[in-house]
Amino acid sequence: MTAKLIDGKAIAEAVRQEAAVETARLKALTGQLPTLAAVLVGDNPASQTYVASKGKACEEAGMGSITHRLPATATQQEVEDLVRALNADPAVNGILVQLPLPKGLNEQAVLDLISLSKDVDGFHPMNIGQLVMKGRTPQFVPCTPAGCIELLVRSGIEIAGKDAVVVGRSNIVGVPVAALLQNADATVTVCHSKTRDLPDKVRRADIVVAAIGRPEYVRGDWIKPGAAVIDVGINRIDDPTKKSGFRLVGDVNFAEAVEVAGWITPVPGGVGPMTIAMLLTNTVRAFKLQHGLA
Ligand code: NDP
Repeated sequence: MTAKLIDGKAIAEAVRQEAAVETARLKALTGQLPTLAAVLVGDNPASQTYVASKGKACEEAGMGSITHRLPATATQQEVEDLVRALNADPAVNGILVQLPLPKGLNEQAVLDLISLSKDVDGFHPMNIGQLVMKGRTPQFVPCTPAGCIELLVRSGIEIAGKDAVVVGRSNIVGVPVAALLQNADATVTVCHSKTRDLPDKVRRADIVVAAIGRPEYVRGDWIKPGAAVIDVGINRIDDPTKKSGFRLVGDVNFAEAVEVAGWITPVPGGVGPMTIAMLLTNTVRAFKLQHGLA
């Protein structure tokens, strides 16, 4: 069997288009634009690239985008003061603090400060708490996990009643994606580094989400024939045939898994593009919530 590819690029583009259409409608209605403020502390090159991509995506969707840069020497007080100012600014609808913050800064304290109605990354403990509580609805769902579910739904893959295995239990991917799958009525098993006989657990899954951070760790013979495989991993491995000297691979051995799975996300071009797309969706949602239009 050769799996159907889940085209994250195309699905992300559709989501971004929808955000652009909604932005135009909201602008016509209110005269204002959904606006994302990014806080970038220090000079981590990857963080700079991420923040630039997020800003560019906002602009392409016709949305507002502001980047606040602080030096790596910024104090906790300075970062917190900036977040407080953005919380109070009515022209800012969503706040994104790019992680990781430089060493010495307390990330959790900064994230806890973000106004719940502007928490477009969905990392505030109140939003995560509501996500995992039955019958509660968070204001925002973290972008990468929301993107995983969007890929399944838009590919016509049924979640209700299915057995799902999530490998990884981080606060930013594993835990929220498991909660979302459970909220969509899957029966969910969460695996981690202390899980015994991981291949056996994965073999039971109709839906596998791999978020481990280990290149090609999940092997093809762990996959149940016909299963849907969502590979969140982004890992660099050496590749002398590439000009850059490396290539990106996921947490799943794609070449093996594609022969067994029913659907699979490629890396790159699967989950990756969905993160920014869902950030735009969340920023539009923040605008609507703040204007009483949700
Ligand atoms: P973390 O390092 O925070 O978490 C990794 C998780 O995997 C942990 O829960 C860990 O278990 C588990 N794990 C590690 N090794 C094993 C193992 N051998 N067997 C089973 N479980 C294991 O990673 P993240 O969740 O932040 O990221 C995971 C991957 O997703 C990375 O490749 C990252 O680059 C990628 N990513 C992609 C995004 C995107 O597409 N936009 C966004 C965010 C992440 P334990 O808890 O026991 O330590």
